[in-house]
Amino acid sequence: MTVQFIEPDRADPRLAVERRYTMLVGGRSVAAASGRTIRRESPVHPGLVVGEFPDASAEDVERAILAARRAFDEGPWPRLSGKERAAYLYKISQAIRDHAEELALIESLEVGKTLAGARSEMNNCADLWQFAAGLVRGLEGSTHNALSEHALGLVLREPIGVVGVVTPWNYPLVIASERLPWALGAGCTIVLKPSEFTSGSSLRLGELARDAGLPDGVVNVVSGYGNPAGQILAEHPATDMVAFTGSQRVGRQIGAFAAPTIKRVGLELGGKGPVVVFADADLEAAANQVSRSIFSNQGQTCIAGSRLIVERRVAHEFVQRLEGLANRVTVGDPLNPDTKVGAFINPVQLGKVESYVRAGREAGARIVVGGERIGTNGGLFYQPTIFTDVRPDMSIVRDEIFGPVLAVQQFDTREEAIGIANDTIYGLSAVVWSLNIDNALQTIRGIRASRCGINGQEGAAEMPIGGYKQSGQGRELGHRGFDEYSEFKNIHINMAPSRAWL
Ligand code: NAD
Repeated sequence: MTVQFIEPDRADPRLAVERRYTMLVGGRSVAAASGRTIRRESPVHPGLVVGEFPDASAEDVERAILAARRAFDEGPWPRLSGKERAAYLYKISQAIRDHAEELALIESLEVGKTLAGARSEMNNCADLWQFAAGLVRGLEGSTHNALSEHALGLVLREPIGVVGVVTPWNYPLVIASERLPWALGAGCTIVLKPSEFTSGSSLRLGELARDAGLPDGVVNVVSGYGNPAGQILAEHPATDMVAFTGSQRVGRQIGAFAAPTIKRVGLELGGKGPVVVFADADLEAAANQVSRSIFSNQGQTCIAGSRLIVERRVAHEFVQRLEGLANRVTVGDPLNPDTKVGAFINPVQLGKVESYVRAGREAGARIVVGGERIGTNGGLFYQPTIFTDVRPDMSIVRDEIFGPVLAVQQFDTREEAIGIANDTIYGLSAVVWSLNIDNALQTIRGIRASRCGINGQEGAAEMPIGGYKQSGQGRELGHRGFDEYSEFKNIHINMAPSRAWL
């Protein structure tokens, strides 16, 4: 059996629409001052432009930063009541729902992800805004009534200020929606810079926020390359925080750019997620979820379960199940409802995956399934790929490949499984499959990662996300997500009769 390919349909009328975007700066739609643009070529249909974004210079971004600064220092936003801010967030949530089909199509065309997947992501985005809106009115500080008989302490929560948000290309609007509602809800103003490959949905989000009546300058959206557009958000003295989601390589640079101005840095970086499967697991359900986790979105997911750690006595059977599923995955046209896996973001990313697979082969690992490009039209497609016979020192086990490539390791005892799972610089996600709940809990407790699952891998706006180890710093979502964008001020109120010092 071979992986099935669904030929992309170049005659689809949705491809014929020209999509040109503008940036949102200080409430106005603007092009780059230079007039330069970035033309996004489809990863599915070579040569077809699916979006054109302004190519912002450092000066363009500085204008956006200063607009956000003014909106924070002089505008109404940080001074609005929680009730008023929440009302705006609800409106934006509704606007995302109303425009879900348009936004999903933009992301499918630019990212190469399936339209079906993008639709459910837009639902998730609207839910994130709605959830955060619900919490805004409950944001509180604390009081200290036991400092002494003559003192009272207040701890006030205040917004940190202007936040530069830099996002990657794999889930553009989801990641923006994991940050913006919490930062806005806390009272901050924003400059959002999406990836140069996938700026369309974020630029549209800016317009939706403006149309929802958000005061000018509260949300600004600029498009452009990492250098200079992203970099200046980290460097500029007028931003109080930079919230970055992306690769470890750039995350390290962001920390260095931000250091001279000692601003707060939020980092959500890469992962190499372990999935531990015990012999007593529901193997059918586990195999299905392991496949979804590593193969969907072409494996370009930070929390993809890319290291399968399976109990030796069921390893052979389990890998056979995975092989069967991998052969049933339909790869190809992202707009076709039967497609499960679309295209890679760009040739560089696909080339990176190919070189990892080559390195795995050369190091002696065995390919059970996949390991080749797929398709005939020059689109960026790759087969779901599974490696066995791997060693812990191989690059396919150690590095974040960001492709549909699963490395299978085996264990005999729980301690061994935990040791293998923790043998990584990353700590973003982990999943354990076992029907023995004590065993599952003890295993997950031993693994140093943040977004964890037992017998499944789902997310929820209610629970915080972020990275252990070199997967990042800071926490998003849940009620803790607001702390990321808050300062805490303590006020010591002295009620004692005054005493002379001298
Ligand atoms: P990337 O680091 O190449 O780019 C991310 C963003 O940073 C883009 O907007 C880019 O323009 C910008 N950028 C690039 N160079 C910059 C610079 N010098 N200064 C400032 N900004 C710069 O990442 P990517 O390839 O877009 O995304 C893939 C990576 O993102 C993977 O490592 C993945 O694991 C990670 N990711 C993490 C999460 C998470 O929640 N932890 C979520 C999604 C993706």
